[in-house]
Amino acid sequence: MCLINLQIPSRLIYLDKMAGVPSAFSQVDLAPPVVVFKVRDEYLADTSEQKINLSVGAYRDDQGEPWVLPVVRSVEAEMATDPTLNHEYLPITGLPQFCKVATELSLGSDSAAITDNRAAGVQALSGTGALRIAAEFLKQFYQTHDPGTVVCYPDPTWGNHDKIFMYAGFDDRRKYRYWDAKNRCLDLDGMLEDLEKLPEYSIVILHACAHNPTGVDPTKDQWSRIADACKSRNLFPIFDSAYQGFASGDPDEDAWSIRMFEKAGFELFVCQSFAKNFGLYNERVGNLVMVLKDSDSLLRARSQMELIIRGMYSNPPCHGARVVATALSNPAYYSQWRDNVRTMSDRIKRLRQATYEKLKILGTPGKWDHIVKQIGMFSYTGLNPAQCEFLSKQKHIYLLKSGRISMCGLTDANLDYFVQSLHEAVVSVCENKL
Ligand code: PMP
Repeated sequence: MCLINLQIPSRLIYLDKMAGVPSAFSQVDLAPPVVVFKVRDEYLADTSEQKINLSVGAYRDDQGEPWVLPVVRSVEAEMATDPTLNHEYLPITGLPQFCKVATELSLGSDSAAITDNRAAGVQALSGTGALRIAAEFLKQFYQTHDPGTVVCYPDPTWGNHDKIFMYAGFDDRRKYRYWDAKNRCLDLDGMLEDLEKLPEYSIVILHACAHNPTGVDPTKDQWSRIADACKSRNLFPIFDSAYQGFASGDPDEDAWSIRMFEKAGFELFVCQSFAKNFGLYNERVGNLVMVLKDSDSLLRARSQMELIIRGMYSNPPCHGARVVATALSNPAYYSQWRDNVRTMSDRIKRLRQATYEKLKILGTPGKWDHIVKQIGMFSYTGLNPAQCEFLSKQKHIYLLKSGRISMCGLTDANLDYFVQSLHEAVVSVCENKL
C-alpha cells in the first residue's frame, strides 16, 4: 500500500490558534428524538421473544414480515431485463407518465379538471416531499404572499404536518377539532365550527382517507358538510393522500373526498404517497397534484414548482416512479395491483374484527367497537399513557403513548398475547379511564 506523505506547510496549521475557540455549533440544542423511530429502537433493543412492534406505519404480512407486492416484483423483473432503461436524470418535475397516471388515480381518469388541462402532477419525494414542495410553493405564491396566512390541520394529525409547514415559514399554524375522545369518533360539529372560524383563504389540510392517527374518516355526508364549511371561508384544501386503496381496498372509493371537492369547483392540492399502497416506502415515490381554475394558471404554477424543486433537490429518483407508472398503465398489472391492495386492506380488517371479538370474549371493560369501525392502518385504541407504558414495559408491546397502534403489527401468532395484555392493561391500570 502506498501512503501519501501529506506535507502541509506549517504556516497553514492553525491548531494552536484555534485552541479554546468553541465550535460554531456549540450552542445548538440537542433535539429530541423522533418518537416513532425512538419506539422502534426500543423495540429492536428488547430481547423478549414475545415482543410486538405496533408503532411503525408499515404493512406486515401474516408472518409479521415486510411485504413486497407481487405486482412490484413482476414489474421489477421486467425492468431488470429491459435494455432501454438507464440511469439518466429524470426531468425536474419527474417521470411524465408517472405524473399522468398518478394524477388520474387520484382525480379519476374522467376528471373534468384533467380534460380541461387545469390539473397536473409533479413527482415528489413520497408524500412528505409532496407536502414539502406544496408548502414551499404556497409560502411563495399563495394569495398575495400574505405572511400571515394560516395553515390548519386536524387535532390530532400526522406528526410531520406541523414540522413541514413550520420549516416552510408558516408561523400561524392552527388545529381544528377532529377526534371526539369521549365517544371515540369524529367530532364533526367541533371540526365545522373551527373551520368556519378560520380567517378567509386559510390553508386547510384534510386527510383524504384512513386518517392518521385516529383511523376515523368522515362519511360522505359529513364530507359534503366539510366542503360547505371550506367554501364558506374560501379555504384552500390540501388533501394528504397517503393511503389510497389501503383504507377500503378500493382506490376509487378512497379518493371519493378528493373527487367530490374537485367536482365542487375547488382549487386544491393533493399530496400523494405510494409508500403504503405500493409498499415502496424507501423508494420515495410521491406526486403533488395541482387542481387550479384554468390551464394558464396551471402552466405558470408548474413552471415555478420546477424552480422550487431545482433549488431543493434538483430532480427526483426514478426506480419507484417507473414501477408505479408501469403498474398503473398496464391493465393486467393494474388489476393485479388492485388485488394486492385488497389483500392488505382485507388482512387489516380481519385483524380488527378478531381483536374486537377476543376482547369481547375476555369481557374487557369498555366499549371496543371503535376498533372495527376505524379504517386503514391505524387504530386509536383509547388507551391512556399509563396503560401504553404498562404494555411496553411489562408486556414488550410497543405503541405510541397516544394509544395509536398499527394493526399491521398483529399476526395470528401474536394476537392472543396482544389481546390478553391489552385486557390486563385495562383491568389493572386505571380501569375507569376507558
Ligand atoms: N401523510 C400521512 C398522514 C402519513 O401517515 C404518511 C406516512 N406515515 C405520510 C403523509 C407520508 O409518508 P411518506 O413520506 O413515507 O410517503
